[in-house]
Amino acid sequence: MSMFEVYGNAENIKLIKIMKKYQHFPHACLFYGEKGSGRKTLAKYFAMTALCHEKHAPCGECRNCRKILHDSHPDFIFVEHSGKKQGFSVDTVKKICHDAIVAPNDDNLKIYLFTDCDNISIPAQNTLLKLTEEPPEHVILLFTAEQKTVFLDTMLSRMMQIAVNPCSQEDCKTALLAQGKNIPDTEKAVNACGGNIGKALDWLENEDMQELTKQVANFTNAIATRKYYEILKILYFYEKDRQQALEFLILLNLQVRDALVIKYQSNFLMGCDKTSAQALASVLTVSRAIELQNFIRNAYLAIDSNVSVKLALSAFGGNLL
Ligand SMILES: [Zn+2]
Repeated sequence: MSMFEVYGNAENIKLIKIMKKYQHFPHACLFYGEKGSGRKTLAKYFAMTALCHEKHAPCGECRNCRKILHDSHPDFIFVEHSGKKQGFSVDTVKKICHDAIVAPNDDNLKIYLFTDCDNISIPAQNTLLKLTEEPPEHVILLFTAEQKTVFLDTMLSRMMQIAVNPCSQEDCKTALLAQGKNIPDTEKAVNACGGNIGKALDWLENEDMQELTKQVANFTNAIATRKYYEILKILYFYEKDRQQALEFLILLNLQVRDALVIKYQSNFLMGCDKTSAQALASVLTVSRAIELQNFIRNAYLAIDSNVSVKLALSAFGGNLL
């Protein structure tokens, strides 16, 4: 297939190919997993497979495949975000319900894609329920979200639910190189983001993210080598920004997790810096790891529930010392 490759997710690809083989696609399907893991790419692959008529679908070459690749297929519809918090407003959903009754333009299927449904409201879901329960024969509804729990049980029970996982670091490297990134940048991005291709691409574009991963690596080293001044200095830096403080703690938690994983000789890393995780692994006991993760969790919960960032990080720093 030209111009379009899905990395990792071999089981999911197999499943979609089986649907094609038996010409039996679900009328509603949810792709869920962390941001950047390839949920939208897989949804697009699903649409191409469903609409491609070639023997080895998706061929990537036929009219339908090419139109989907260029986001210009009239029967593969990206539903626009609307309303509060960039969810989908009831009005938008009503319009889709009306549009869905109309026969497809080009072919025998009409596929709607609702991306990033993390803020989809209950009223919007209730409006969508009837269409999800009894869609016209030609309609397929696709959704992407981080967690499937954003959906009502009544919606979930009508959807096929597909977990999307980040691919291996090797696949991530291949994907970045295929997008024309150079080797040193690719190595750095994969080191910081593991197998999450979307995150790695963001990281390369976003200097704030690069700074964040650098600080988390320094902090991990500082815990490993008991450099208390460095610990306090970095925490002081994050006192001013609640969102950045939360992101810092999420990444730090993954570093502690990786240090434990390294200690037990596994290779499946999720954090942002292997070298500092190795340094931490060399001095970490299981009970200390649990203690550190508890400190991180408490600080995260405090900051997330609007406690002063300064207070929460000071308490966190105090615990570490
Ligand atoms: Zn095709």
